[in-house]
Amino acid sequence: MKKISWPIGLAAFGFLFTAGWGQMTTWFQWTYLPPKLIDEIIGETSGETAFNHVIELGGYPRDRKPEEYAGTFKEAQYVLDRLKEYGIRDAEITRFPGGETWDGVRGELWEVEPLHQKLASYTDLRAMLVEGSNNADVTAELVWVGDGRAPDFEGKDVAGKIVVTSGMAGMVHNLACFQKDAAGVIAIASGHGGTDPFSISWGGIRAFGDKQPRFAFNLPPREGELLRTRLTQGRKIKVHAVVESGRQKFELQDPNCSIPGTEPGAEEIILSAHIFEGLVKQGANDNYSGSAVILETARTLQTLIESGRLPRPRRTIRFLWVPEFSGTIPWVNAHPELMKRTLCNINLDMVGLQLSRSLSFLTLMRTTYGNPHYVNDVLEHYFRFVSEANRNYIANRMSQTDSRRMVAPTGTEEPLYYYVGTHFGSSDHEVFNDWGVGVPGVILNNWPDLWYHTSGDSTDKLDPTQMKRAAIITTASAYTIASADDAIASQIASEIVSNASGRLGHQLARGVEEMKRADPAQLPAVYKKAAGYIAGAAVNERATLDSVMELASDKPRLGRHVTALKAAVSGLEEASLKTLDSQMRISASLLGMKPIELTLTPEEKKAAGLVPRPTTKIREKGYRGYRAAIDEATKVSVKLGSVSGAGQASAEIQLLCNGKNSALDMKKMLDTQMQRSPELQGIMNYLEILKQAGLVEY
Ligand SMILES: [Zn+2]
Repeated sequence: MKKISWPIGLAAFGFLFTAGWGQMTTWFQWTYLPPKLIDEIIGETSGETAFNHVIELGGYPRDRKPEEYAGTFKEAQYVLDRLKEYGIRDAEITRFPGGETWDGVRGELWEVEPLHQKLASYTDLRAMLVEGSNNADVTAELVWVGDGRAPDFEGKDVAGKIVVTSGMAGMVHNLACFQKDAAGVIAIASGHGGTDPFSISWGGIRAFGDKQPRFAFNLPPREGELLRTRLTQGRKIKVHAVVESGRQKFELQDPNCSIPGTEPGAEEIILSAHIFEGLVKQGANDNYSGSAVILETARTLQTLIESGRLPRPRRTIRFLWVPEFSGTIPWVNAHPELMKRTLCNINLDMVGLQLSRSLSFLTLMRTTYGNPHYVNDVLEHYFRFVSEANRNYIANRMSQTDSRRMVAPTGTEEPLYYYVGTHFGSSDHEVFNDWGVGVPGVILNNWPDLWYHTSGDSTDKLDPTQMKRAAIITTASAYTIASADDAIASQIASEIVSNASGRLGHQLARGVEEMKRADPAQLPAVYKKAAGYIAGAAVNERATLDSVMELASDKPRLGRHVTALKAAVSGLEEASLKTLDSQMRISASLLGMKPIELTLTPEEKKAAGLVPRPTTKIREKGYRGYRAAIDEATKVSVKLGSVSGAGQASAEIQLLCNGKNSALDMKKMLDTQMQRSPELQGIMNYLEILKQAGLVEY
């Protein structure tokens, strides 16, 4: 560029000076890995390859044939073939006993009077025939029943007829067919409130007692609307419905492989994705996208490590594709020794959307306080890096010259919209997080997904750019943990403190707001609870720091660092409590009250002395293998007149039993995390049940 004389340059570079003075460093991005290695990962990952995997796995909703049920599922075979092609030596499909599923064969719905026209066909769109539909060959009149609730049927004789409804097929089917003897159902509404006139919400019809389901068709809303108009205008319409279905036995098939580390028997990291949403229903985002991204992660790491562009890490990175929950549970139960040396799980479930189109984010859902782990902060590190590096900052003179662009050649140029959220279960990481398994797991997910669980969850909603970024984040995070030496481990620990100041700050601000909303009578209790948020969050941060020690080579050296950082977190905790104390004093003064003294009730004193230690019995039988013992102890406890009252918090209470947390700590940590947490007495009752079950001691 030509040199500009001073006065003009001053004006032209006005923005430049702003950038130099900014409080946030828009010009400075970093990763745990050296720039050369992260550049290799950014360059090697391919959004196109991941996107193409989705097309190959299921470019459109397929009808599985009996041969597939009897042999190997298309998806499992596809993943296995690719892994072998990439030269991953131990790739295999692990099989477990499965069950039986409904299988659609044929479904045709034709209007025969007054017009002769096709209304729906299983061949055109699988979701048009509702899962669970039974064999039928019926010619019948249509009856409009609105939303299909009980009052909608008043004064209508639907026996032997087919009802047409704007309600959901499953619900209307039970009322119309089982109670009113209708022949079948046609549902015309999408559960997604008209965001897409072409997509059909998935659902099913089921047997009720000994009554077998009849049949139901779904029409996409646009087509359904035409039928509704004609029926509400009083037209008589007759249709011919033909349904053929059967049942198929199936096996659970889990393709898996590993990229071995340099140290045999060292720790591992597991990446997982559920390989299809269901045997009958499949979705591009949910979850061919997650399967495709971890497959691309496997290829990227294998390519880079085999060619020496990335040094082989010390620890093993394992990959697991599963039928959701049902394939993960037997797999973890079959590998108890492996679970002991697995550090963490990164689960991908819905990661491929073009985010702006679905008004969506790529989200990281953290572990709960019961599974404190640095995996949260490692993922957050790469989320931030990829998102910040792909933003166009006005402070950087509206150019991307200072950014590190990560865009697939055929993908969008969108930012990476992301957030780091609190725990959410409902996917396979939850199996790893279980008390009986003991592997902290996080999930990457797109939410909202406007086509979630509908026939509209198809490849056209995906974006190779965002898939590339999900692959970069996953690859870099897994590789960072697998290769972490004391230098990286120490940086991870320090960044936990950096993030902790934000998380503690959030609890402080929340506490201040709750105190503001309290009336004088409520203020003492609210103040105590708010102080508990800060204390509870700080316990979690210190436990997260402890988790870094599993990466240490020189334990005393890293241990000194971690000890110092835990003291630093206590300093942050103290500063937050001081701020809260000052806020309480001015709030009390404004309300004309005396300052509040924090004291423990006798019950709280007792709870502070109650520190349960987990026993080895917890992990003897794997995932939820401890349930029977709890159920038995609960029965006894009911007889003794005490019930737990732990409710939804029970799984978290289990996980918080680590020999360090007292029942009072648990109360604070539950208050911090949950909108409605159990009473202290409920927590203590539940701990008593766990003790009687032989799962904890104190
Ligand atoms: Zn899913």
